[in-house]
Amino acid sequence: QEDFERRFNIPHITDVFPDAQPIPSTFCLKMRTPLLEDFAGGYPSDEEWHGYINNNDRVLLKVIKFSSPSSAGAECIDPGCSWVEQWVHRAGPREKIYFKPEEVKAAIVTCGGLCPGLNDVIRQIVITLEIYGVKKIVGIPFGYRGFSDNDLSEMPLSRKVVQNVHLSGGSLLGVSRGSPSVSDMVDSMEERGINMLFVLGGNGTHAGANAIHNECRKRRLKVAVVGVPKTIDNDILMMDKTFGFDTAVEEAQRAINSAYIEAHSAYHGIGVVKLMGRSSGFIAMHAALASGQIDICLIPEVPFHLHGPHGVLRHLKYLLETKGSAVVCVAEGAGQSFLRKTNATDASGNIVLGDIGVHIQQETKKYFKEIGVHADVKYIDPTYMIRACRANASDGILCTVLGQNAVHGAFAGYSGITVGICNTHYVYFPIPEVISYPRAVDPNSRMWHRCLTSTGQPDFI
Ligand code: ATP
Ligand code: MG
Repeated sequence: QEDFERRFNIPHITDVFPDAQPIPSTFCLKMRTPLLEDFAGGYPSDEEWHGYINNNDRVLLKVIKFSSPSSAGAECIDPGCSWVEQWVHRAGPREKIYFKPEEVKAAIVTCGGLCPGLNDVIRQIVITLEIYGVKKIVGIPFGYRGFSDNDLSEMPLSRKVVQNVHLSGGSLLGVSRGSPSVSDMVDSMEERGINMLFVLGGNGTHAGANAIHNECRKRRLKVAVVGVPKTIDNDILMMDKTFGFDTAVEEAQRAINSAYIEAHSAYHGIGVVKLMGRSSGFIAMHAALASGQIDICLIPEVPFHLHGPHGVLRHLKYLLETKGSAVVCVAEGAGQSFLRKTNATDASGNIVLGDIGVHIQQETKKYFKEIGVHADVKYIDPTYMIRACRANASDGILCTVLGQNAVHGAFAGYSGITVGICNTHYVYFPIPEVISYPRAVDPNSRMWHRCLTSTGQPDFI
């Protein structure tokens, strides 16, 4: 009991302001329409029906019990596979809120790269804030940079402004990498009177959001900082999935299908598709599983050789001999050891990766030329086409619920939290818990084995 409390305790305004008095929620809920039988014993009171989430509600993090380490793979929590229950806070509207809507100035900022669904989340945050009665809602343009760049003014947001933004991809507010110092950002928030900040971004953005939260606490500012994890790679710990991932897999499938048609229509055709996944291969693995057209799936978590008797190239030769064509999908972070290190970083300090897709294309051409076998190699990099898509239906729903719950979390008085979906329930996590390292595909997991079963590829070691 103590363990989970310690682990998933989420920061609340009363930690800093123990005397903060909540007010009844301005977000009115009716959970269900009264049925005839409800009237038998008199009309139920609003209190019985309110449907608000209790602050003590929890969601169980791991819902499977393994009986042996071998069936668990790396899912096993400890070597003996004893059962540790981990519970996380359930997201949703609370009966008591810690901000008066008329005193709220809410800001939304989107940072990092593009991801399908950003506009859906922005839209839903704005709509939900308005339902609470918030009048002052602004967008910070172009990521954290918008806090310091005097040429960029904040964008007033309302239901009218955001009504149709989800119909296109990208971010209404713009994104960027690199940022001013945390203290400059908090100075700017103080100047502007922002007391609710919604931050949409990946691990870097969340590290920034947590630093802003801590700085606000240090200055004793009554501010709620709430993140919504945006990672197309699906590499956030503990969550079922992050928004944009589903859309990415669907679009990736289209690229794979094109590569397949190109490869299949050429004599000894080989299609190479590079997909997103800097440190984890979820998109590549899922797209391979979904398409059923991939012969070789390469991800950062699973080492492989290109050359040698058990290398990828030898298997490609075998595929040309037996099937006549082949399709490879490779995650951008895979096989980085083959590429020359540049030590270059982007504005946010992320290492710039070498292009493994181009490398595989070149090595494949060279190999088949050397062995005197004809091969027609075509390379597709759909990254920017995928990132710019609008969210599909399932991501649209995910974004909507995450956006609503971000607002509920802020009004509930939580700060330094992020919203996620966990075993189909929506939950709040303390930010540091989910960004301590990127979630990765477990090479011993059932899912990776299913992928191998589907592609039929051997180990390339
Ligand atoms: P993506 O998944 O697209 O890479 P990201 O959120 O990880 O998303 P980054 O470019 O790494 O994208 O970071 C976004 C913003 O967060 C940048 O403005 C960056 O300067 C800031 N940031 C990154 N790491 C930190 C940190 N440790 N502390 C404060 N700010 C940070
Ligand atoms: Mg990142």
